[in-house]
Amino acid sequence: MPELPEVETVMRGLAVVLQGRVIRQASVHRAGLRWPFPAGLAERLVGARVEGYRRRGKYLLMRLSGGDSVLIHLGMSGRLVARPIADWPNAPIAHEHLALETTDGTRVGFVDPRRFGSVDLVPTAAEDGHRLLAGLGPEPLEPGFTPAVLEAALAGRATPIKAALLDQKVVAGLGNIYVSEALHRAGISPRRLAGSVGAVRAARLVPAIRAVLEDSIAAGGSSLRDYVQADGGIGFFQESFRVYDRAGLPCGDCPGPQPSSGPGCAGIRRFVQAGRATFHCPLRQR
Ligand SMILES: [Zn+2]
Repeated sequence: MPELPEVETVMRGLAVVLQGRVIRQASVHRAGLRWPFPAGLAERLVGARVEGYRRRGKYLLMRLSGGDSVLIHLGMSGRLVARPIADWPNAPIAHEHLALETTDGTRVGFVDPRRFGSVDLVPTAAEDGHRLLAGLGPEPLEPGFTPAVLEAALAGRATPIKAALLDQKVVAGLGNIYVSEALHRAGISPRRLAGSVGAVRAARLVPAIRAVLEDSIAAGGSSLRDYVQADGGIGFFQESFRVYDRAGLPCGDCPGPQPSSGPGCAGIRRFVQAGRATFHCPLRQR
């Protein structure tokens, strides 16, 4: 499932493809995805110029000249695919639910086999009031996300820190992968109760969260060629994780078995927490 870095990369890729372009045609191929599409969606897109972009948590917003923003969530399996209209196959694209064409000859489709994604319209001036954005916590890469803010959000919570960081009200944009990675970098056990994190660990956790997100965004590339793949898929990810999906491998941050100084790192362990796989190093993370 796309998390903050993936959505950020898709947003940058979409900006490369669509920024400043005018939508000359739009088509909607079903009534909705996770939620119904807004009434008259296609008609409201046609004629608009794409003026700008914003990401909020795992949502991306495409701002249009008419004063609306298109609010997009990629869900579990959503992708945006851009190709020159001339290269587009005549046959229907499997799982393409929405498509638009620009006056300069590009077609962008929203493809989502599992249909957990969503597309809505919201007045640009009132983006933060949209029901899907109104309750989101701070953006982890913005200055307002400080150790004191995180500590306060965690105080008194009797859930594991892993679950607390997945809560979009605590911090926006993290999912299973980056929470596992950030807890490893911060040396905090995913089982630790959120309320016991405190000031000292929060001061490690905030920069750890920022670092895993920034590293992943940087790995996504920085040019048109990076952002639009050969098959037209927008966004490019080249993650290298330290713990996620690496059960049994050395975690890279531990000194390893050292008989003279007690037991060393036995490798990354996987366990299931609230129905989701969690990866951690029991030695390093307390
Ligand atoms: Zn280790």
